[in-house]
Amino acid sequence: MYQSNDEWIKDCHRHIGPGWHRLVENLHNAILNIEANYQIVQIKSKLGGLRFYIDYANINDEKSMLMIKLIQKAEAESYGICEECGNKRKPNPKGASLMPRSSWCEACRGVV
Ligand SMILES: [Zn+2]
Repeated sequence: MYQSNDEWIKDCHRHIGPGWHRLVENLHNAILNIEANYQIVQIKSKLGGLRFYIDYANINDEKSMLMIKLIQKAEAESYGICEECGNKRKPNPKGASLMPRSSWCEACRGVV
C-alpha cells in the first residue's frame, strides 16, 4: 500500500532537502485542483533535480496530461532552486549532476 499524500508531504524532508518543500507543496496543491484523489508514489532527489512520481492508473488521459505538465514544470524549476536553502541557484554544468550535493547552490556547497 502507498502511504497517504499527506504523509508524503509531511515527511518529505526524509526524501528531499528543505529548500524544495515549498516547490513540492505548491505542486501538490496544483495537482489537487485537477484531481483530488491522486496518489503520490515517490518523491526524491536524483541527479541534481526533483523527481515526483504519481499513480496514473485511475486518472483519465486529459487529466494525466495536465498533471504531467505540472510535474515536468516543477522538476525543471528544481534545477534552479537549491535543495538545501531554497535560494536560486545556477543549474550545475554537465556531468556535475553525478556529484554529491549537486542540487545545492554554490554557497551551500561551500564553493564561494
Ligand atoms: Zn543553498
